[in-house]
Amino acid sequence: MLRERVSDDIYVFTSELYAQVTAGAVIGLEGAVLIDTLALPEETLEIKEFVEKRLGRPVRYVVNTHHHSDHTLGNALFPKALVVSHTLCRSLLDTRGREALEQAREHSRELQDVQLHLPELTFSHGELVLRAGRRTMRLIPLPGHSADGIGVLVVEDRVLFAGDVMMPIPYLADGDYEHMLTSLKAIPRMKLENLVQGHGESVLRGEVANAVRSNLQYLSAIRRHVRRAARLRDPEAYLLEVDIEECGKSRILMNGLAEQLHSRNLVALYRLWGEGH
Ligand SMILES: [Zn+2]
Repeated sequence: MLRERVSDDIYVFTSELYAQVTAGAVIGLEGAVLIDTLALPEETLEIKEFVEKRLGRPVRYVVNTHHHSDHTLGNALFPKALVVSHTLCRSLLDTRGREALEQAREHSRELQDVQLHLPELTFSHGELVLRAGRRTMRLIPLPGHSADGIGVLVVEDRVLFAGDVMMPIPYLADGDYEHMLTSLKAIPRMKLENLVQGHGESVLRGEVANAVRSNLQYLSAIRRHVRRAARLRDPEAYLLEVDIEECGKSRILMNGLAEQLHSRNLVALYRLWGEGH
């Protein structure tokens, strides 16, 4: 696990075991707020050790940016913390998350003892504001990667934990195209010092606009290809050939996972839109 300090008392942890997934910690005087957990217990336990033992601050809240297991499976390692999320995140975790965990347990020894810990505090409209010490955290809906997506904006430091709506390559297979556009366009208006993506490296102030633009350009490139495919006799064959680099993204992003995400994006959009979009 990599640890990076992005502002005074704000840390980002990046997995070295699974898809460069990230988690964050905002350290207050009396306690800490985590934003997501990492996919495997050993890495989440490293975060716990760092925050609770080395910094000496108990984790009081864990915010889940969305229900996917790579971000939420560590919740149960903080039994005394209050887990906070969008209302949809709780219901998706309780249904799809529960099924996914049962399946994952069959293949992974590390996940044998993992339990679900459902969010206790949820919101379904507008924003939720969480305060810790002198910090104000705005929990803002940012759907698109998934319907329950939220971001956490640390107001005083202008740091946004965006969840998976912002990744080195957009990933839509469980998401909504139009919602992702709306969420991405909101990000540059937040005047950020630091944008923490759900996977991959954090983006510094001067690069935020470019990073968001690059994702928007990728999204319009794949839309063009899906529309073209719909007019062909063998759309699936065409979509298989759509090159990721031609859509403006490098195939080596996310340790090479990018290409797989790219193919799934095309298939998902084609299934959703089919002909005539
Ligand atoms: Zn993820």
